[in-house]
Amino acid sequence: EADRNKVDLDFQYPDNWGREVLNWVLFFGVMILIWVFVMRRIGGGGGPGGQIFNIGKSRAQVFEGGKSTDVNFNDVAGLAEAKEELQEIVDFLKNPKRYTDMGAKIPKGALLVGAPGTGKTLLAKAIAGEASVPFFSLSGSDFVEMFVGVGASRVRDLFKQAKEKAPSIIFIDEIDAIGRARGRNVNMGANDERENTLNQLLTEMDGFGTNSGVILIGATNRADVLDRALMRPGRFDRQIFVDMPDLKERMEILQVHLKPLKIDTSGIDVEFLAKQTPGFSGADIANICNEAALIAVRKKKSSVDKQDFLDAVDRVIGGLEKKNKIITVEEKKAIAYHEAGHATVSWLVEHASPLVKVTIVPRGRSLGAAWYLPDERHLTTTEQMLDEICAALGGRAAEYIMYGKVSTGALSDLEKVTKQATAMVTMYGLNDRVGNISYYDSSGQSEYSFGKPYSEHTARMIDEEVSKTIEEQYVRAKKILTANKD
Ligand code: ADP
Ligand code: ZN
Repeated sequence: EADRNKVDLDFQYPDNWGREVLNWVLFFGVMILIWVFVMRRIGGGGGPGGQIFNIGKSRAQVFEGGKSTDVNFNDVAGLAEAKEELQEIVDFLKNPKRYTDMGAKIPKGALLVGAPGTGKTLLAKAIAGEASVPFFSLSGSDFVEMFVGVGASRVRDLFKQAKEKAPSIIFIDEIDAIGRARGRNVNMGANDERENTLNQLLTEMDGFGTNSGVILIGATNRADVLDRALMRPGRFDRQIFVDMPDLKERMEILQVHLKPLKIDTSGIDVEFLAKQTPGFSGADIANICNEAALIAVRKKKSSVDKQDFLDAVDRVIGGLEKKNKIITVEEKKAIAYHEAGHATVSWLVEHASPLVKVTIVPRGRSLGAAWYLPDERHLTTTEQMLDEICAALGGRAAEYIMYGKVSTGALSDLEKVTKQATAMVTMYGLNDRVGNISYYDSSGQSEYSFGKPYSEHTARMIDEEVSKTIEEQYVRAKKILTANKD
């Protein structure tokens, strides 16, 4: 009886050491993987092993002249003045003795200043190509990395390599990433690493003899933020401005980039295309030529024709067409009125840029667009700015007139208008009440970066005048549209 509740207990001690070992192996395995990963990151990726010892080695690409940079001045369209200035550097690299015999000192560096895509890199490569010398290129942001001392040792290493191969060219793109004026932005904590890099760069530039045959070419789109020490004679003592191309230069650039394309036999009117692309940089134009070829392929054509180029221009300005985006009929109607408002006002005011095209096909992030052909002028008068503001407000004004209410669709118009009106008042001195004062600081090195350079009273006046300028033009746009509603 008593045995019925008795349970047989059988204790087993499983042999678990195997799993324990596995756990440890896994643990160390993961640690090692993380270690390897971190080391790769430091070493800048690529090849196996030994990365940790290469932290400070410059990653400059080496192109042997005549081989890898097969670019020469003929590939650079326009930019006649820049090429002329740089020709001297080419002559020196080719024939240093003529200069040293004369006792002349050759500039150690030239700074190319211009908007992105205007051909600065291309020019630097062309110098190396023309002179058939090695070309070392690095971007300013490559120098500035997270480890202390890396930037400075990269600079040292780069100059060492270049000197070994002299005569040679060192090209540093985005030099403002290292060359920004020191001692600013105190509030953000001084960027010691960048400062060290800049100091090393200055030391190297002073260190190499004038006639060592290494020429440093820097590129930036903001010369104004560069440390003044970089501009001292004996460093970047030449500044060469690389401007946005004008009509004639755009024609030349088009010709360069049309060459490799298979063009329709009826030909392409280069002048017409150049006129359609105001404000385009060389890179934009190169992009359009390539885009046109892609479009022709997509349409299964045998050659690229004019329409492909026009489509490419639209695409580059406006982004990809989104024909499938769902927009209700009411929305479409509102967009159509909005764009028609822009069109009408810009026709009827005297100075606004002529309208090229209005569309309600959504592209990129916008639902519709009106495109203008701006005059290539260098001076803008008060009347022209006001007319442009008026035309930009024409969209919202049309919505108001047709529906009695306005929508969020005018965001980018309002942004543009606000910037323009603010610039009129605070930068260009085009406002009677604020007067002939400009708070624009072209040096970017002002002492009063902590606060506004004007009093509270002036601040209020600026706000009032900006608002007044815009509201006046809005009223004007509404008046023009009401009078021409039909
Ligand atoms: P940046 O260095 O000024 O930003 P790039 O030199 O990299 O501009 O230019 C990008 C591309 O644009 C070049 O590779 C070239 O195809 C084209 N490009 C720019 N300017 C010109 C020009 N003046 N002539 C011919 N092609 C140009
Ligand atoms: Zn608009």
